[in-house]
Amino acid sequence: MCEKSGLKAQEAGYLEAREPEEIRRPEQRPFPKGCLIVVGTPIGNLEDFSPRAAEALRQADFIAAEDTRVTRKLLSHLGIHKPLISYYEHNKREKGEWICAKMESGETCALVSDAGMPAISDPGEMLVAQCAQRGIPVTVAPGPSAVITALAISGLPTGRFTFEGFLSVNKKSRREHLEEIRGERRTMVFYEAPHKLTATLKDLLAVLGDRRIALARELTKLHEEVIRTTLKEAVQRFTEEAPRGEFVLVIEGAPAPEPDTMTLEQAVETAVRLQEEEGLSLSEAAKRAAAQSGFKKGEIYRALTR
Ligand code: SAM
Repeated sequence: MCEKSGLKAQEAGYLEAREPEEIRRPEQRPFPKGCLIVVGTPIGNLEDFSPRAAEALRQADFIAAEDTRVTRKLLSHLGIHKPLISYYEHNKREKGEWICAKMESGETCALVSDAGMPAISDPGEMLVAQCAQRGIPVTVAPGPSAVITALAISGLPTGRFTFEGFLSVNKKSRREHLEEIRGERRTMVFYEAPHKLTATLKDLLAVLGDRRIALARELTKLHEEVIRTTLKEAVQRFTEEAPRGEFVLVIEGAPAPEPDTMTLEQAVETAVRLQEEEGLSLSEAAKRAAAQSGFKKGEIYRALTR
């Protein structure tokens, strides 16, 4: 018997919001038939695969996998035998149609990628959109995602952040992306492959200037490491030593503009941010933004209420 409160109870099942005292076991909440289940898989440590995610794979009629060889290993570790179909970047449009037709005929599909959450810098985004469009139910058995895992242990502000994914290898799109984020005040998270890491760090330094960066490497694996440094030092380090393993880059946002160089628009943005982040009243936020920008409180207040 599980206890009705405390960690043990939570481990055994989940807490129903409307009945906080009641503990239900996961198997009491089956996945609906004829739906898509987005299943998160570990980003490096098999122990992170949840029992509920395993249940999702068991209940599915078939599994759409980014790389069937990778998923076959996971299934054999779990002792699960299910038909596998490959769903990846270059076949996602036609395969998506085929998968949707199967689900419309009542079959349940579990979607997995090689690692982490499908649809996050991985195939699946289009399939979920297709389901949404066709009214096919979509549910989730969530698992780790490198972006959130890295952010959580970066030591950089986590209150507001942007996920930038991979920078394009196309020069023009890459430059446009970098220009777009030059003044970004929120913490930014990037994915990068090891062989492109040094070039990317150099580009980031050239456009963003020297900033704090946390390089989260080999998360959840044997050689997990968080390198908390600056962009300049990171460039120097990875020019001398070849990057190894998988990396997530977490970079601090741009500093607030100097008061005397702030435009009225920036002062208003500051007031809005203070309202959102610190829950200040309109008047108090305008006052604080005035102190930071050099504009009069009334000017900011008027612009805020216009
Ligand atoms: N869908 C995955 C997710 O939810 O995290 C991301 C897949 S994306 C194709 C792969 C990138 O994620 C890698 O290039 C790396 O930047 C990051 N990544 C994945 N696993 C990681 C790990 N264990 N440690 C550090 N970065 C990782």
